[in-house]
Amino acid sequence: STPLDGKVALVTGGSRGIGAAVALRLAQDGADVAFTYQRDSERADQVVGQIKAAGRRPLAVRADSADAAAVAGAVDAVAAEFGRLDILVNNAGAFIVAPVEQLGAAELDQTVAVNIRAPFLAAQAAARHMTDGGRIVSIGSNLAERAVFPGFALYSMSKTALIGLTKGLGRELGPRGITVNLVNPGPTDTDANPADGPNADGIRALTALGRYAAPADIAAAVAFLAGPDGGYVTGATVNVDGGFTI
Ligand code: NDP
Repeated sequence: STPLDGKVALVTGGSRGIGAAVALRLAQDGADVAFTYQRDSERADQVVGQIKAAGRRPLAVRADSADAAAVAGAVDAVAAEFGRLDILVNNAGAFIVAPVEQLGAAELDQTVAVNIRAPFLAAQAAARHMTDGGRIVSIGSNLAERAVFPGFALYSMSKTALIGLTKGLGRELGPRGITVNLVNPGPTDTDANPADGPNADGIRALTALGRYAAPADIAAAVAFLAGPDGGYVTGATVNVDGGFTI
């Protein structure tokens, strides 16, 4: 079945990891899929090929989420290119982890710009293009709710802001038939957090299921929220974390 037939989606940070899995899954579900990336155009080309192979129209846009104008510009460019925008997935994230006394203004600004300002600006721009049935899904983190390791104060702070954005926008855009939700992944096997990395066994042990997620596990939850079956869910945070936050 193709529940997203005729829809257009934009995924930020869609060239690798969770974002790439979301882009591919939305294409498999029938959407034409645009995505942004920061620098690795080879990986972006691979995802373009996967979206094409799924029979859908791809578009890769190089746009750094730390650049406010680039974020809003990417949303407007996608809506202009495809003639509409139905689904926004705020996925790109800055993962800067260090003892608090080592975090300076540059780290603070980068984290706030990529993890808070960019999702806000992208949602603001997307809402201008969306009509009834529009969907905004952001990717937060299990570490917003359970801060198990030292060094995560900045990252956890930034991801917690997405809860407020999701609730506030959900309330505001509901009357227009647009839903807004947050997916908080647990440990997910990507370049940023490899399942065979040095800390992986300790991380795995903190989940109830005793294992990492595959990026496709996170994408499945996003696809549900983005599709017709998720139509009555808004303002919600969905933990897809293997029980990390139990
Ligand atoms: P990866 O590092 O595997 O992939 C990051 C993707 O985002 C790449 O496509 C990258 O593009 C792009 N990207 C990174 N920075 C920017 C930027 N400033 N502007 C535009 N694109 C950017 O990350 P993950 O898939 O692991 O993480 C995705 C999201 O999930 C993040 O928000 C992260 O915080 C969250 N998350 C991840 C968890 C995990 O265990 N992996 C757990 C909980 C949350 P390029 O290759 O060009 O740099």
